[in-house]
Parts: sequence; C-alpha cells; structure tokens
Amino acid sequence: MSSDCLFCKIVAGSIPAKRVYEDELCICFADLRPQAPTHLLVVPRQHIASLADAEPAQSSLLGHLFVKAAEIARASDLDHGYRVVLNTGADGGQTVDHLHLHLLGGRPMTWPPG
Ligand code: AMP
Ligand code: ZN
Repeated sequence: MSSDCLFCKIVAGSIPAKRVYEDELCICFADLRPQAPTHLLVVPRQHIASLADAEPAQSSLLGHLFVKAAEIARASDLDHGYRVVLNTGADGGQTVDHLHLHLLGGRPMTWPPG
C-alpha cells in the first residue's frame, strides 16, 4: 500500500466506492465520472504505479485483471462489446498513479480515442 494513493485508500476501504466485485487480488468499482453507461475500474489490491512499472513477477496478476474484466463485462450484460483501457503515464492520460483497467460499455465506442 502506498499511503498517499487514492486507489490504495479505496482498496483499504478508507475512501468509499461503489464496489461491484472483489477477490483476493483485485477490486472493481464504479468510476466517479463515468464516460459511458457502464464505466468500471478494475484495480489490483497491490500498489503498482502504472503498467510501465509492472514487473515479470506480476504477469499472472495482470492476466487476472483482464480475465476478471471479461467476467464482469459478462455479468454487466455488455453482450454487444466493450472497451478495456489502461492509460499509462502523462501522455497516456493516466491521472491516478495506481494501475487500473477501465471497463467501458453500453454505447458504441469511436476510434481513434482522443
Ligand atoms: P486515469 O485517468 O486513467 O488514471 O483514470 C482515473 C479514473 O479514476 C478517472 O476515470 C476518474 O474519474 C476516476 N476516479 C477518480 N477518483 C475516483 C474515486 N474517488 N472513485 C472512483 N473513481 C475515481
Ligand atoms: Zn495505490
């Protein structure tokens, strides 16, 4: 845990969030400023600042996040598809320095993203 990290505080429960899923490795909660009808964040309990900081030993954890995102998408009735986004670093649009997957769905997405 990183003591000044927003998502570590949500994982610990000291900042509230609308949780939709949790297990021993990750939690999933609603984004505070949704950009689509469904906008969830899948967050590892372990503090990893960004994908750029991920290490080979964390490969199975990263895979777990993606597999759970797909399961949560199924449970959220996103049968027409969805988008998983992993913003990384300043140019990648990352604003919270705790690795997280955005799960966006419920409307058609455009490409390229902004
Ligand atoms: P990113 O810009 O990729 O780092 O994504 C950070 C996301 O966290 C943004 O979509 C924010 O809306 C979301 N966010 C920020 N604070 C909170 C919070 N307290 N609870 C839920 N989502 C949050
Ligand atoms: Zn953190």
